[in-house]
Amino acid sequence: MFSNHAKTIKVEIKRQSGPDGSSTVEKFEIPYRPNMNITSVLGEIACNPITADGTATAPITYDANCLEEICGSCAMLINGKARMACSALVDKLTDGSEPITLAPLSKFPVVRDLSVDRSVLFKNLKAVKAWVPIDGTYDLGSGPRQFPQLQEELYPLSNCISCTICMEVCPQFNDSTNFVGAATIAQVKLFNNNPTGAVLKAERLRALAGDGGVQECGFAQNCVEACPKQLPLTEAISDVSRDVLLQQVKDFFVR
Ligand code: SF4
Repeated sequence: MFSNHAKTIKVEIKRQSGPDGSSTVEKFEIPYRPNMNITSVLGEIACNPITADGTATAPITYDANCLEEICGSCAMLINGKARMACSALVDKLTDGSEPITLAPLSKFPVVRDLSVDRSVLFKNLKAVKAWVPIDGTYDLGSGPRQFPQLQEELYPLSNCISCTICMEVCPQFNDSTNFVGAATIAQVKLFNNNPTGAVLKAERLRALAGDGGVQECGFAQNCVEACPKQLPLTEAISDVSRDVLLQQVKDFFVR
């Protein structure tokens, strides 16, 4: 809880001018207002980009859009922890005596300052065909019916906001592996269980059987702890692992 005596918020931000630039830390001090989140802190600095020692500087580059944990764009390291800037409240991060530290996600190429290139997630989603294949040129009518129990089981998986936090915290997602990460595997479960999406089930499972596939998960379970939308990631990984194995056995016998 922010102390009544502290009238300013101290923020230390890791900055980098471009993908190949060296990084530096700049300190800021901005007026405290109740109920600020990290996105509003960054907005305040953008309005008046002056460091704590009075030096004019370039405004901080960061990604943000919906401001309500839906678009997934504002993920960053806040006090060393991967989380969404829009739902990180200043009152819960510091009592005013210690600075709040902000840094870009560490496992993605820096574009500039707090903005990183997370296109690897979209490349992975494309590789597993994470969509329902439909011909959009004419009305196909309503799709096949789904049991409510299945809808309820799958609905949480549709809440993924592509924030990449599950990949950032995963020890298996690093420079020496091609592991696709929990979000992609969860979407495979979602679309494989969709009555229309299931037509691509075998292709999705084969895509997860090779290099970087589901077998590279080490079950550290950091993903499920860190996911801001509480996706049942470990359950999805177990289910998809089993399906990948079954697909491999099936493929072996029909060769
Ligand atoms: Fe973010 Fe969770 Fe989706 Fe991973 S699974 S990208 S942590 S919302």
